[in-house]
Amino acid sequence: MTNPIRLPAPGSSIKAGSIYISTDKIFHHPEIINRWKQGTLVPPVTVEIHLTERCNNSCYYCQYPKSLSSMTLKDFDIILGKLSRAGTKAIILSGGGEPTLHPGCARAIRMIAKHQMDSGLITNLLQGNDQLFKSILRHCTWCRISLDASTPDVYRQIRGTAGFSEVIKNIRRLVEIKTQLGSTTTIGLQSVINKHNLQDVLDEINLASRLGVDYIQIRPVETMPGERMKYSKAQYIRIMDQLERSSPLEHPCFKIIRSNKWDIINPFLKKRLHGFSFCHAYMMIAAIDVHGDYYVCCHQIETRNKQLCFGNAINEPIATIMSRRQKIIKNLDMKKCYLECRASNINRCLESLKKPVPHENFL
Ligand code: SF4
Ligand code: SF4
Repeated sequence: MTNPIRLPAPGSSIKAGSIYISTDKIFHHPEIINRWKQGTLVPPVTVEIHLTERCNNSCYYCQYPKSLSSMTLKDFDIILGKLSRAGTKAIILSGGGEPTLHPGCARAIRMIAKHQMDSGLITNLLQGNDQLFKSILRHCTWCRISLDASTPDVYRQIRGTAGFSEVIKNIRRLVEIKTQLGSTTTIGLQSVINKHNLQDVLDEINLASRLGVDYIQIRPVETMPGERMKYSKAQYIRIMDQLERSSPLEHPCFKIIRSNKWDIINPFLKKRLHGFSFCHAYMMIAAIDVHGDYYVCCHQIETRNKQLCFGNAINEPIATIMSRRQKIIKNLDMKKCYLECRASNINRCLESLKKPVPHENFL
């Protein structure tokens, strides 16, 4: 089959919105890189925390185990205190479950600010009220809403509920309050492209541009190395074509982010490889589940991979947990790490720093 569509090259203009989700932020932490290069312990710069395992969606692609468990705000405060003192800079509230279902979500966001760390929120925004929205807009650096659809039907097929109109209403209200408060919180949407919304990409971007959010990110479903490709060549072309046709909708206040995961999850590639040999970032990121268990990343929480759990952040001193990491990470099996996982970009950057560069002093 000939390819009539011009596929956007990696790094093309559609990626312009990656000012928010850029690939080289690790270079803004030179002291962490220096300590890492010297082989000394570094604190996690960014930590994901799961406030609850409850969820009001049931997305068909979701891998997280669900339960009624939630973290108490007292335990959350203990963890924040330890991380802040260790040098952590930012906390992401995410799932696990849906963070806004935790009755103390608004307070949790304020607590992160009190501990002088930045916060980001990943939510489906199926529920919310002005008190929560004001807390987000006063304290979060960003809020990303998982939408996946431009119509109630597609939303229900993917996210298993009839909440589309409610989510849209909540997004409009969040944007409205952002204007009223003069907030600088970045509000973004995310769409995971799958068999139900392959044809919906352009409509979703159109919808996002009308909602007044700052960006929409279009990304593929997570894939394991060696796993069967989730997109045929024809489907991939259709997705890229919609992305290409959407670029006129971009303007200085609205970005369309083509996730760089598409560069690896690409059915035209003969081989799909991580692009790095090991998780060098294992000290710089972390994910903590509702029980306080501290893992290398959220992907290991999905499978409750106790072999990559470094300890418990509620009951143990953070220094003890941090000192275990170098030994425990040896259990990592890269075959069980998603292609384009959370730390892929950092890992590629760090691996390139490990390689000797000829004539490195000639810039
Ligand atoms: S909203 Fe998130 S946690 Fe809930 S089912 Fe969907 S992907 Fe899973
Ligand atoms: S999935 Fe990614 S972040 Fe997690 S351990 Fe593997 S390489 Fe590291």
